[in-house]
Amino acid sequence: MAVTLDTDLARVLGAKTAKAMAESLGLRTVRDLLRHYPRRYARRGEMTRLDDLQVGDRVTVLAQVRRVTSRRMRNRPGTLTEVTVGDGAGEMQLVFFNRRFGKLEEGAWGLFAGTVGEYRRTKQFAHPDFHLITGDDDEDWARALIPIYPASKDVSSWVIQKSVRLLLDASGGFGFVEDPLPEDLRRRHGLLSLPAALLDVHRPTSDEDVERAEERLKWDEALVLQLVLGARRRAAALEPGTARPRRDGGLLDAVDAALPFELTEGQRQVGEELAAELARDHPMHRLLQGEVGSGKTVVALRAMAQVVDAGGQAALLAPTEVLAAQHARSIAGMLGPLARAGELDGDPAGTKVVLLTGSLKAAPRRAARAAVADGSAGIVVGTHALLQEGVEFADLGLVVVDEQHRFGVEQRDALRAKGNRPPHVLVMTATPIPRTVAMTVYGDLETSVLRQLPSGRGGVASSVVPVSDKPTWLDRAWERLREEVAAGRQAYVVCPRIGDEDTGSEDEPDEADAPQESGGDDRRPPLAVLDVAEALSEGPLAGLRLAVLHGRMTPEAKEATMRAFAAREVDVLVATTVVEVGVDVPNATVMVVMDADRFGVSQLHQLRGRVARGKHRGLCLLVTEARETTATGQRLAAVAGTSDGFELARVDLETRREGDVLGAAQSGRRSTVKLLSLLEDEELIATARAEATALLATERGLADHPGLAAEVAALATDERAGYLEKA
Ligand code: ADP
Ligand code: MG
Repeated sequence: MAVTLDTDLARVLGAKTAKAMAESLGLRTVRDLLRHYPRRYARRGEMTRLDDLQVGDRVTVLAQVRRVTSRRMRNRPGTLTEVTVGDGAGEMQLVFFNRRFGKLEEGAWGLFAGTVGEYRRTKQFAHPDFHLITGDDDEDWARALIPIYPASKDVSSWVIQKSVRLLLDASGGFGFVEDPLPEDLRRRHGLLSLPAALLDVHRPTSDEDVERAEERLKWDEALVLQLVLGARRRAAALEPGTARPRRDGGLLDAVDAALPFELTEGQRQVGEELAAELARDHPMHRLLQGEVGSGKTVVALRAMAQVVDAGGQAALLAPTEVLAAQHARSIAGMLGPLARAGELDGDPAGTKVVLLTGSLKAAPRRAARAAVADGSAGIVVGTHALLQEGVEFADLGLVVVDEQHRFGVEQRDALRAKGNRPPHVLVMTATPIPRTVAMTVYGDLETSVLRQLPSGRGGVASSVVPVSDKPTWLDRAWERLREEVAAGRQAYVVCPRIGDEDTGSEDEPDEADAPQESGGDDRRPPLAVLDVAEALSEGPLAGLRLAVLHGRMTPEAKEATMRAFAAREVDVLVATTVVEVGVDVPNATVMVVMDADRFGVSQLHQLRGRVARGKHRGLCLLVTEARETTATGQRLAAVAGTSDGFELARVDLETRREGDVLGAAQSGRRSTVKLLSLLEDEELIATARAEATALLATERGLADHPGLAAEVAALATDERAGYLEKA
């Protein structure tokens, strides 16, 4: 039988097995099966660490039978058979009801698959599937490494193993597999051919086999992914857009004249990059990454001013209403009369700045929408919802998406569909992101980086306050806060929760970023703003002016509180993570984060950015009950130990499950990214990106590489590159 990668599995495996594979694992063709790689490899005598199994996991383990006991059940008819399997690392119970197991004898080895349960503190499988490895079994089992595949209830790991074997036999090896990678690329990077790699990944004889095979197979993933992203960048660069060239004597010049500071070198450079790109008649698609406090807003404002000068409108989208309101306020402040064109005291050379958020009352909302629709509002500030609400723009020229790390490909596509010509788009990330994430999740955007902070900043000193190890330090923390307030400064106290139960609020989008700690259930509930504020005002901070801020307050109340804080009418703001992004009160110098272990690394970095804004040195205290020696304690120490956001972004990636970042890659769904790791494969991804860019830039592109072109097309259309969305 002539087998190809596109051959239906039914022709090789028979209808029944093929149906089960398609239904439960999404494997339909020979290609699917060959690209279904083992999750790991087991060796006899070196059993799976049973101790590490999590209740609820569906797993396959290689184990040896220790004891078999059967007894009649007391409460119902029939027998219960308990089989203990194990090795030095632990034991596990297999429980079977009413079945005979002549073959499960002591000393026998087998693969056991099921969902891990727990009964009286012992891990157990209730009626697992199993496959015994007997002496007369075929050579598959004599091998040193036994592949353990991602399996399902209907298709066990050993069935997949056997199917691969059948395929090998039917085709006389994997010789029919054509290698999509160009040969010279393979040679330059010392990569195995695809048939060799597939053979080694499915039937390895040594760990080195596996390693070399995986290296090669990761290349397939990285290169195809980068080709898709590269093609997107190229296509975007060819789309027609509207040029918004710089004009002298307009709003931009006025902004520059009004700036109370010198731009940093980085701001100037990025500014020039943006100015040049806006002047082209293709839409810009750029990601601006910046260290917290590096001054992204002014960079964005200058780009927006250029677009207004060229006759277009600019929209600035913030993740929360608090932040949108603050942006509108500070932009209006910076522009002065230039922000009030059309009003009595306005400057006719300027434009109108409008804030358009969901909480506006009907009348002002109508007025704002009208100004956006007739074009008199050159600068529109709102939340991300602005675009979904079908607001009509007269001539939308630029969209700036601020502080957003969940602005995926799809949202960007939706943006491009706005107006008759797609607008220029500038995405600004909330915190620095690791290079690998920039190259994958945001890989279809060009990137600019602002590393430098404006000079004259005091910086932030951070310390962990480990209340379990050093109980007196907390008192000292409140003393420090009081000293700062006495010196005329202000402070934040941040808590993970609001208080009167009820969770979730649109103003706190980052809950999901907090790392999932195991054993989270038996911890006490996180500290709440309302409780902490009360305790502080009656205790260590008695006599200071305290206010609370959280996502369940009305927008007006939030706005009023922020204003009062900015006007120094409040000494201490006790808040949730609403203050995380972008809030800018340079006189605030202390931040105390309660239950700091409940926050993610980048969240903490963002938070402390709030007290690094002025000329005074900031102080950030991370209060936690976690012991210094635990992983959590170490994570907090890492945050306290460096203020380099790029370094922390890496720590963050390490503590988060990667699947969250690459989305569906880890779900049972068929997916293209299986082996590639954002943590470990930075070099490989970067090299593949360079290769992809070079390939696409050649005259014939992928025309001479039909195998590669097919893989790219499959990824681009089949999955709509959906896994590129951030989770
Ligand atoms: P982020 O990049 O975190 O969004 P912001 O844009 O909010 O930072 O800027 C932080 C603060 O730094 C603001 O108060 C802003 O006015 C100020 N700032 C921006 N650029 C400069 C500069 N070149 N020199 C001095 N201060 C600056
Ligand atoms: Mg900002």
